[in-house]
Amino acid sequence: MEYAEFATFCDRLAATDADLEQVRILADWLTETDADTVPLVVATVRGKVFEPWETAEIGVSSGLTVDAIDTATGVGVDRIERVWSETGDLGDAAAWAVEHETQQSLFSEPLTLERVYETLRELAEFDGEGSQDRRVGEVAGLIADSDPDEARYVVRTALGHMRLGVGDGTMRDAVAAAFLDGSGAASEAVERAHQVTNDYGLVATTARDDGRDGLAALDVELFRPVQTMLAKKAEGLGDGIDDVADEADDVHLEYKYDGARVQIHVDGDDIRVYTRRLEDVTPQFPDVVEAVSEHVTAKRCLLDGELVGYEPETGDPIPFQEFSRRIKRKYDIAEMVERIPVTLYLFDVLSHDGDSLFETPLRDRLDRLDRAFEPDAGVIERATHRARETDTSANDFYQDALAAGHEGVMLKNLAAMYQPGERVGYMVKVKPVMEPLDLVVTRAQWSEGRRSDYLGRLFLGCRDRDGEFAEIGRLSTGYTDEELAALTDKLTALIVSEDGRMVDLRPEVVLEVEYEAIQQSPEYGSGYALRFPRFLDVRDDLSPADVDTIERVETLFEDQ
Ligand code: ATP
Repeated sequence: MEYAEFATFCDRLAATDADLEQVRILADWLTETDADTVPLVVATVRGKVFEPWETAEIGVSSGLTVDAIDTATGVGVDRIERVWSETGDLGDAAAWAVEHETQQSLFSEPLTLERVYETLRELAEFDGEGSQDRRVGEVAGLIADSDPDEARYVVRTALGHMRLGVGDGTMRDAVAAAFLDGSGAASEAVERAHQVTNDYGLVATTARDDGRDGLAALDVELFRPVQTMLAKKAEGLGDGIDDVADEADDVHLEYKYDGARVQIHVDGDDIRVYTRRLEDVTPQFPDVVEAVSEHVTAKRCLLDGELVGYEPETGDPIPFQEFSRRIKRKYDIAEMVERIPVTLYLFDVLSHDGDSLFETPLRDRLDRLDRAFEPDAGVIERATHRARETDTSANDFYQDALAAGHEGVMLKNLAAMYQPGERVGYMVKVKPVMEPLDLVVTRAQWSEGRRSDYLGRLFLGCRDRDGEFAEIGRLSTGYTDEELAALTDKLTALIVSEDGRMVDLRPEVVLEVEYEAIQQSPEYGSGYALRFPRFLDVRDDLSPADVDTIERVETLFEDQ
């Protein structure tokens, strides 16, 4: 496909923010696209040259992109940065630079979508000395062959942010409208297939070639992580028990651990560990791979569980914020294994010796789980669990969980199937109230004085009813200088525009925040304000779609 055609189409998508109109434009376009190109369109229009579970990364930063634009156009880094800061978008700056370029490339090759996609994928393979310069050269090569509009989208694709507002929901409905009948049921079929495969290219091609039956037949496959089932929140143990299952015999209780959700894929000696964000973190956890290799008896399986770090001296669980250092650390792994040992608590199995278990009730899945591994205390265990006998025994179990330093309990419905990616109420979490909120950073302000290099005041948003972010307060305490410096680095990469000391950010960084109370307040878009918010942690394991909702805030407000 000519890249110019792709760029024109992206312009049309960008020109409307009406969801239905976007779905229609995208669906019409998918219908006209030839079969081989559909997966490319589906990937690039969402800015995803790699899916999160592919270990590769393009490795293109904003700084590198500025150099590439300059190399291709010769307009000068300062001018590019000026336009970038005026428009808030490096893609726009690239378009401007191509329009004003002072050097023309001698040999220009027409740009195709295939070439852009393949070139960007190849960048991930560059390694070692000179690899950054080679990346600059390749991106510059693409920009040199671009007209202004094409350059805009080349740069946005390289940076992984298309600014078109095409999220998973738009893509789901567009695939359903392009290749199925566009009904709500068709969208659901597409969504389910995506939750199981996390591969929209595959989902779109299957919908196109094999329709709804084909989608239904798409199944879990090892080494392609699924979206894990999520929990609803109950306001107390009694409510939770009532909510989770109609039959008392179906209520299953487990400790709720404060660790990292992992899914572990096993095929003989091939073992991989993925996070809830579907990232492959196998290299960080050689100890988990070893434990699985020694204790998992199933030849092929997909296990769901929580990894919890503990204090080597005392055996006490450590807070997630400390444990998360192990997830991020990509060097000196052996030292981290010693310093922060982990226990793997397993609580589900989604595929076992070739059988997909999504449709199997939890009761039977747990039997399968027991057959899939041999526990080893402190290394690999079943999550501590108990059937609900009486309300008193359930409460004792909850208190035991808290006394042992865990977050609370999960209540699960033993008769329920596994719903990837959904908060359907088949599992419910119960934790003490006034618990921290997970909020996204929407804006920030440069500090003054000693911390003037830092974005020290952070505006926080919860999710409103439209899935947008509504602000609920600002945060300026709770972090150490070190944490603030790391946070500033992270946020600087997300700056969209600056006005004096205030910066607007792409809402991507999720923070866990504690506070003393929630008040009603006209000052913020949400209508609420957190009283005395304090920073607890950066939740790298959560995406913006996971931040707490306005409904949650309202419930907490009413209950306090
Ligand atoms: P929280 O911030 O309360 O951990 P969350 O947004 O991370 O919530 P939820 O779906 O609300 O995620 O809560 C479920 C999470 O609890 C799971 O993703 C998992 O990481 C963790 N967890 C701990 N123990 C269990 C357990 N026994 N069963 C299921 N999930 C558990």
